Amino acid sequence: MKLFDAHCHLQAFEFKRRISGVMEAAAEAGVVRMVCCGTEPGDWQEVKEIARAYDSVIPAFGVHPFYMDRAGQGWRDTLRSFLAEGSAGVGEIGVDFLRKDLDRELQESIFTEQLVMAKEMHLPASIHVRKGWDTLIHILKRIGPLEPGGVIHSYSGSADLVDVLERYGLYISFSGSVTRPNAKKVKKALAQVSPDRVLIETDSPDILPTTPGRDRDEANEPCNLPVVAKAAAAVRNTGAEEFALLAFENGERLYGRGQET
Ligand SMILES: [Zn+2]
Repeated sequence: MKLFDAHCHLQAFEFKRRISGVMEAAAEAGVVRMVCCGTEPGDWQEVKEIARAYDSVIPAFGVHPFYMDRAGQGWRDTLRSFLAEGSAGVGEIGVDFLRKDLDRELQESIFTEQLVMAKEMHLPASIHVRKGWDTLIHILKRIGPLEPGGVIHSYSGSADLVDVLERYGLYISFSGSVTRPNAKKVKKALAQVSPDRVLIETDSPDILPTTPGRDRDEANEPCNLPVVAKAAAAVRNTGAEEFALLAFENGERLYGRGQET
């Protein structure tokens, strides 16, 4: 199987001092490309170094809504300089209205600024949205379709929204949540995504796929992506290998590693 992990956090403390083992296991599982998303200025340097050390890693830099308070005054300039250094994405960015403790307006403005930056710098964005779908659509209406595109990571929205998001240049990515026995809504949405817009991810170290007999508290790793690929392929009535390759090619295209670039 040849796999593209569209969203993970290799800089996470869970992987400290064992990153080479994590990368070896990923390669053995066929995960030959990973988008490693930063979450705040404090982890961007680490993301950059991991991407430098491993060709398979595409770095992304952004301020995650959970960590807005760690961004500090100069984050915009710092972000621009990290992004200007070369092939990268903007992420993880977004809005999370499940978290009542985070200021909604501040989330919206920091997210919008970074989306505009992604558009201006012609970079793909990796987007986190929970319960903020109206806000996302409102922002997209204002700033227009994303160019060269973006991805909604670990999609939790409705099937009806898929078509709208695709029209704004978005790809839709599915995580270990498709392996949950009660993932009806997620599966319905997955079935709705156009073949050229579907992606898969681990969101390591989070969202460990459900595997019978395994401890749910373990850190998730990119090497678990085949479990997601198999579950997603079953939903789309296709073979796992074939589906993995489709998602791989979509990832390569979005992140400018495909044949046309
Ligand atoms: Zn994430």
